[in-house]
Amino acid sequence: MAIQRTFSIIKPDATKRNLTGKVNAKIEEVGLRIIAQKRIQLSEDQAKGFYAVHAERPFYNDLVAFMISGPVVVQVLEGEDAILAYRTVMGATNPAEADAGTIRAEFAESIDANTVHGSDATDTAAEEIKFFFTDAEIVG
Ligand code: ADP
Ligand code: MG
Repeated sequence: MAIQRTFSIIKPDATKRNLTGKVNAKIEEVGLRIIAQKRIQLSEDQAKGFYAVHAERPFYNDLVAFMISGPVVVQVLEGEDAILAYRTVMGATNPAEADAGTIRAEFAESIDANTVHGSDATDTAAEEIKFFFTDAEIVG
């Protein structure tokens, strides 16, 4: 157990439905601190670069189109075992399989419009935070 940082995106399906505050409440309820946050419009190049790991997957083009379909809120979360803690409160990728009470079970519309992104490991968390935030923007 250790204090970690993870990277989160509140996706366009959630910003469109005015759910930023409800998602943030779920994050804070499990003890994670939102230590940096900004609402931005992703460019196509940013979305492609961010999801480059999925470039060969059949859903890649749809995923990129969805991620640029409206504003997103990018965040740095900090707390005890933050990476796993956030993955747990996010719920499964497919909201139909997400545990009750998770963000995706309560808010996600479909497997693609699934409300949130969260890093899956320490190396990807560090890379993803750096992709969107400078050190000066993370005030703790
Ligand atoms: P997670 O976001 O839970 O880490 P993945 O990293 O596997 O899931 O996938 C990244 C994103 O790609 C998902 O959050 C979802 O928006 C989209 N995605 C994944 N699998 C599918 C699929 N089978 N069909 C459509 N979109 C998908
Ligand atoms: Mg993932």
